[in-house]
Amino acid sequence: MGYVYTLDGTFELGGLEQSILMRGNTVIKVKTHLLVGLILELIAFFSSRFKPSRIIGQELSGIIVELDKDIKGFNHSGRVGRFSLAIGCGNCRFCLIGHLNMYDHMQTVGFDFDGAFADYMLIPSLTFKNRNLNKLSETTSNEEAALAELIACCINA
Ligand SMILES: [Zn+2]
Repeated sequence: MGYVYTLDGTFELGGLEQSILMRGNTVIKVKTHLLVGLILELIAFFSSRFKPSRIIGQELSGIIVELDKDIKGFNHSGRVGRFSLAIGCGNCRFCLIGHLNMYDHMQTVGFDFDGAFADYMLIPSLTFKNRNLNKLSETTSNEEAALAELIACCINA
């Protein structure tokens, strides 16, 4: 179950069933998620970026409960966190130098993919190619990991 944005600008509980998520994809059990002011502003102004039936939530931490066999460097049951808003193609000159937000066809979690306001979240495979998701150390809490993307935005601004 997740917090799903509806056509009339409100939210309701819904989303994909866990059994659908677990079919050879990478899935995390969400441990921490945050709601930032930007999202509330976009909702208030009925941004066209929000699509009905989409689960919101970009800042997160979680545990990998299903791992696509083609994903290398991550482990089942591994803790992960930090989700950059920008998911690029991984191949163009902007993506290759780490400027995913400059990619013309950038996609974002919570807008183009279901986000973290749910029990479980499907992780797009491009996430790993673009290093949008990081493994967490034992000393990093779930809450710290969920805050990392927000702090990175402040430092980079
Ligand atoms: Zn690109």
